[in-house]
Amino acid sequence: MRFKDVLGLDEIKKELIGSFLQNRIAHAQLFHGPRGSGKLALALSYARAINCTSFEDCDSCSSCPSCLKFSKLAHPDLHIVFPVIKKTPTDNPLGDDCLGAWRKEIIKNPYLSLESWMSVYKEEFFEKQGNKKKEGVIYSHQIKEINRKLTLKIYEAKYRVVIFWMPEKMNLKSANKFLKLLEEPPKNTILLLVSEEATLLLPTVLSRLQNRRVPKYTVQETINGCKKEKTKDFLNYCKEVSGDLGRVLNYRGQEEDTHTDVFIALMRTCFKRNFAEMAKWSEENASKTRQKQIQLLNYSLTILRECLVYNYSERKINNMSVREQNFVEKFSTYIHEENSISIIEIFETTIKNIKRNANSKIIFFYMVLELSRLLKLKHKFA
Ligand SMILES: [Zn+2]
Repeated sequence: MRFKDVLGLDEIKKELIGSFLQNRIAHAQLFHGPRGSGKLALALSYARAINCTSFEDCDSCSSCPSCLKFSKLAHPDLHIVFPVIKKTPTDNPLGDDCLGAWRKEIIKNPYLSLESWMSVYKEEFFEKQGNKKKEGVIYSHQIKEINRKLTLKIYEAKYRVVIFWMPEKMNLKSANKFLKLLEEPPKNTILLLVSEEATLLLPTVLSRLQNRRVPKYTVQETINGCKKEKTKDFLNYCKEVSGDLGRVLNYRGQEEDTHTDVFIALMRTCFKRNFAEMAKWSEENASKTRQKQIQLLNYSLTILRECLVYNYSERKINNMSVREQNFVEKFSTYIHEENSISIIEIFETTIKNIKRNANSKIIFFYMVLELSRLLKLKHKFA
């Protein structure tokens, strides 16, 4: 993330760049603002900028080795601490197992709120209902681990950066440990605290931070800042979430979520070969607008292609949400050399026929029947 990628906030950007160019880099800084504001986006741009080796035109570049690593949030001198949940009372999670998922969600949407992340985190890493109710905490063992890492030599960066995402989730024990870190900061290490509720921080912590308030976006800014088609629904949604850019950017996500649900339902119905359900699915989806029908079919093709990529190339999945990824991992075994081409063809034919204004109820039912037959085909070598 570069400064120019962060929506608006020109004053703060100017101030951050100015202080950096004058070599005034405070070792502990707080970026705080309401959910859906640009605080994390700014902190990440700043961390990248102070380490860029060819900083110019008031921004980091996009080609130096440091920036390339920062663009994936995977620089060895960038450490992230965020709230975690204990699976058992003796569990001491560091968040390392879900750091990959966190990076992925933040790269997709750096305005993500803690609440939105927690729902992804819980769905991905917890099955038990009991754990789902638990809140995230930054535990003292996480601070201890960061302290340990900070005693090691810096790998390659000019400034090692530690981002504490939602430091208000530190319990008292962690906060006290953290205070020690603030009092004796390691050399060339910058601590960036990114908070949704800074008033919950200990006054002794607050007083040691360079404080920067990041304002809420206006509704209009979020509308202009999102490339989404400005439909009436979208505009209403922007008003409803009043300046929460994280949610505005996820608006597309919600639509895709619905597609995911509909696609999963389709595959389940086809497997079960329940004709009543198959007919119901066809009818329901035939009642949507043609544009929505085509969007759904194109989305289905994307998922099917991801299944093929997953099967035939190193089990890697690109550009998918955690939920889609989970589905593809399980579902891809049913897509194989015996049926993949035919399944893709039936979706393509369906799109063509819908574009020709044919009766979508009939077309969908035919597609569902065909899918049901194709999914039952056994893997030749299985
Ligand atoms: Zn650079």
